[in-house]
Amino acid sequence: MSYTGIPLAFVPIEKPEEKTLDKAAQQMIKRAEELETPVIYHRFDMMQPQCEAGLKGLCCRFCWMGPCKLDPAAGIERTICGCTADTIVARSLVRWIAGGCAAHAEHAFHVVEVAHLVATGADVPYKITDVEKLKAVAKKLGVPVEGRDPKEILKDVTEKALEDYTRTEEEHLNFLKAYAPKKRVEVFEKLGITPRSFWREIVESIHRTHVGVDSDPMSLLKHGLRTALADAYSEVVATEFQDILFGTPKPVEAVANLGVLEPKMVNIVVHGHNPLLSVKVVEAAKSDEMLSLAKEVGAEGINVVGVCCTGNEILMRFGVPLAGNMMHQELVLATGAVEAMVVDYQCIIPGVAAMADCFHTKLITTMLIARIPGDVHIEWSPEKAD
Ligand code: SF4
Repeated sequence: MSYTGIPLAFVPIEKPEEKTLDKAAQQMIKRAEELETPVIYHRFDMMQPQCEAGLKGLCCRFCWMGPCKLDPAAGIERTICGCTADTIVARSLVRWIAGGCAAHAEHAFHVVEVAHLVATGADVPYKITDVEKLKAVAKKLGVPVEGRDPKEILKDVTEKALEDYTRTEEEHLNFLKAYAPKKRVEVFEKLGITPRSFWREIVESIHRTHVGVDSDPMSLLKHGLRTALADAYSEVVATEFQDILFGTPKPVEAVANLGVLEPKMVNIVVHGHNPLLSVKVVEAAKSDEMLSLAKEVGAEGINVVGVCCTGNEILMRFGVPLAGNMMHQELVLATGAVEAMVVDYQCIIPGVAAMADCFHTKLITTMLIARIPGDVHIEWSPEKAD
């Protein structure tokens, strides 16, 4: 999708230094204006003033009778179905928590699925990189390690993780029991907020917050805490399996900022969250086949750089430079120096498509769950990751 001309509400930013301290980013904000293509900073200004009721959490559109908007100062203190402000604020918060938990838990699930394929000898281009980390995780979960093949250990460890997705009994997360301090676990138990499974807490959050279900703010918030704990321990799952598959990060020296783009090289930006994809891009960029293709088109080589969290994954493991954070994703493309932005999921804002469209840049999506209008879609799968 491209913008045709400057949108009516698009006001240039007079002081980009008030938006970002990064001087290169400030320059690219002005470059975006020359391109007549607003970026996140402009669109934020275009949204002002933001809805007062929305800012206070006093609106709801969870059912067909809404939207409802409360205005206590004007005496409107109950929604159509009779909710108070406390109820709709609590319900919205629980839905946000469920969304975050779903994102982290599904990311972790994809990594566990690949680890399980590795453990069971499937033909996938991934392997156990950090055997010591695998053993450490296994010991925490009570999985025997002595005299066992790493793949056997990994199989048991992945099954412990998979149980944390599918458990139907009133039992608690294996990873929480293994990693949370004992005193904390006691507090969680006492409050009745120890999560049972990632999927279950997310589903229950959506159910409870549906019209006509839980309207007690305290009861809602208690389940929000339970889901937040599920979220936290799903992130532990992702971290541990990523370390097992790709190595445990150590301090590395690297450079960061938009200046990491190389004018004489093919610049590939990886963006998103899951190293299952970004690690493969880094590996491919070093291959003789890709390097000779780059030379054929007159480039000196291939320069992979990162944005956002997957950028951090390859920065901390391989020292790959970081071009910018989430707020910079459109500005990286505004340089016009990027051949492709390759993305997986989470934090990839649709605005990148409009900026890519200003240049020769290809926006390559790789995950079925995260398409963007204007993308080039090349599906990632564990079997075809190389
Ligand atoms: S659930 Fe209640 S508060 Fe929400 S939109 Fe429906 S009627 Fe309004």
